[in-house]
Amino acid sequence: MKPAAKDLKITDIRFADIDGLPKHMILLKIYTNSDIVGYGEVRDASSATYAMMVKGRLLGENPLNVEKLFHRIRQFGGHSRQGGGVSGIEIALWDIVGKYYGIPVYQLLGGQYRDRVRVYCDTDVDGKHTGHDMGRALKKRMEAGFTYLKMDLGIELLYDEPGTLNAPAGFLDDLKTYSMKAISHQSGSIDKSLMFGKNYEIFTVPHYATGIHITEKGLDYLENYVREVRREIGYEIPLAIDHLGHVAVEDAIRFARRLEKYNIAWMEDIAPWTMTEHLRKFAQNSCVPLGTGEDIYLAENFEPVLGAGVNLVHPDALTIGGLGEIKKLGILCEKYGAAIALHMAESPIGFMAAVHAAAALKNVLCVEFHSVDHPEWYDLITPSVKIENGFVSVPDAPGLGIESLNEDLIRKFHKKDCPAPWSDTSHWDGEWANDRIWS
Ligand SMILES: [Mg+2]
Repeated sequence: MKPAAKDLKITDIRFADIDGLPKHMILLKIYTNSDIVGYGEVRDASSATYAMMVKGRLLGENPLNVEKLFHRIRQFGGHSRQGGGVSGIEIALWDIVGKYYGIPVYQLLGGQYRDRVRVYCDTDVDGKHTGHDMGRALKKRMEAGFTYLKMDLGIELLYDEPGTLNAPAGFLDDLKTYSMKAISHQSGSIDKSLMFGKNYEIFTVPHYATGIHITEKGLDYLENYVREVRREIGYEIPLAIDHLGHVAVEDAIRFARRLEKYNIAWMEDIAPWTMTEHLRKFAQNSCVPLGTGEDIYLAENFEPVLGAGVNLVHPDALTIGGLGEIKKLGILCEKYGAAIALHMAESPIGFMAAVHAAAALKNVLCVEFHSVDHPEWYDLITPSVKIENGFVSVPDAPGLGIESLNEDLIRKFHKKDCPAPWSDTSHWDGEWANDRIWS
């Protein structure tokens, strides 16, 4: 059944929380008064509440009016995970538009710059290890066909190396006690316990306030690690670095200067993105490209970091506000001369949204991917995701190109402390407030 375009209406919005592939992912369906269902996703390690809270404002509305509906709900989005609700809904609306008119989402965004998109795997090696270990892990990615690499390299490798870190007495012990779960399990989900009590206090001390500095011996250690990695993978493939840890920006600069000869593609989030003067200082004092952006909501909020000298942005479609905001960011990046590497740590729904965005943006280098070691991730959708020689083909099917979700796998990986997949959400149907933001 396909009603006339003017009669199409949103009838329901429901969610499924999954975990273990490897992260907490929140899938979303927007139902209509037709057999068309739009697929979206709230940001990884976020909360379905951020989307549910706007459900009452969308019921009965025409899902084809994507910009009008996003304009109504954009005030309920925020940075990082708070952007996940309105972003996931916006993406599901584009999926509905594409399915209704029978065209792929990239076409709705202006068409293709490319028909296949480069993918890189964020790679980490758990626990204490050497640059040789990391180099071998990255070499395996290259052997699997991947053409762009990123690794985590952080100061936790120095915790038990005497004389490598300088910090207020006792603080490193607190870090080891309270935030090692975040550091040691980056391939998995953020643990709920990290968000409460002393864990939360330690987890949320920003870079500039930890008082941690890296000694010359510590810099020698980290530089040697990178040298060992390059010895394994060679110098011809791009290699980015994430998760240095919360150290002062001056120490990030000292490390970056050591890294200039190792051809680092970018260093990621070396200071909170809100601290634009810290970013400017890094950009003006080293020749390693600086990246940030996965936690920034709305394209307009990228302008201060681009102005500070960030020359690579990694927006997440599920935080920035969806695909319309990604298109706006693409234009801003051309103005400032910044490349784009899309952040993506979610399910194949978020992945396909990123792939359509990457197809329709000019200066995209690659899309991130976290699930290469989780074969069931690829089969969460039909047709399943195929990454060949480090590239994914952009689908030409209507909408995001997802025919259906694999409900058996969704039940198998259901996150146990969340409601059953696609549970009734009618208790949110009547939610409202005076939404005018001026008087
Ligand atoms: Mg990152």
